[in-house]
Amino acid sequence: MRTILLGPPGAGKGTQAAVIVNEFHIPHISTGDIFRYNIKQGTDLGKEAKSYMDQGLLVPDELVVAIVEDRLKQEDCKTGFLLDGFPRTANQAEALDNVLRNMKVALDKVINIEVDKERLIKRVVGRRICKECGATYHIEFNPSLKEELCDKCGGQLHQRDDDTEATVSKRIEVYLNETQPLIEYYKDQGTLVTIDGEKSIDTVSQEIVAALRRES
Ligand code: ADP
Ligand code: ADP
Ligand code: ZN
Repeated sequence: MRTILLGPPGAGKGTQAAVIVNEFHIPHISTGDIFRYNIKQGTDLGKEAKSYMDQGLLVPDELVVAIVEDRLKQEDCKTGFLLDGFPRTANQAEALDNVLRNMKVALDKVINIEVDKERLIKRVVGRRICKECGATYHIEFNPSLKEELCDKCGGQLHQRDDDTEATVSKRIEVYLNETQPLIEYYKDQGTLVTIDGEKSIDTVSQEIVAALRRES
């Protein structure tokens, strides 16, 4: 299964990615997670990415494309992958097509998760992430059993630096300008499936898994 999760910040990409990779046994490639890992490790890439991320801006295409290209060439991506948060620009989508063409593989489906703007802001501002395992919670919509602690590993929950109301508004604006046009791009390729992301987490998971299992 070779697939992409497309959708604005807060649509539920990371939440659904965890379910999909478990169901289809494919690696989860999140460019946001790769940048956050590099920030934590204090690498040059992390420092450069952070200066964009903190402003709600996109990291330049050259940096992102090189990282994804490297990652897709690794052994575990031979039978499939799930891209989460990539591509985000027309340039990135074209670069991905080239990489896949050279690897002689093609995308099966692109899952486009749709959510209303007001709800996106509430979701992002209330998001909490486990420092240890990266599991995602929401203070209101998907709380952990014990406040501030991860149900899966007991790790501390924290808020991402870029999950403020000001930054998320900027990120949504960037999404509308740069990323939303990809919906048409993938519709033209015949791979797009649109999912209503406002339903419950479980319902959205079921609909995505069913869409990925469908032949056409
Ligand atoms: P993305 O990766 O697209 O930015 P996340 O998966 O991190 O989105 O989800 C954003 C926030 O919304 C998280 O706090 C998550 O727990 C919550 N969330 C995700 N899906 C739903 C849903 N279907 N209903 C309610 N809250 C959701
Ligand atoms: P969200 O799903 O909430 O938008 P991500 O974790 O996917 O968050 O991304 C966080 C930030 O990382 C983005 O706001 C952007 O600065 C950077 N980023 C992640 N993926 C890309 C990408 N494909 N191209 C450019 N920047 C990216
Ligand atoms: Zn955890």
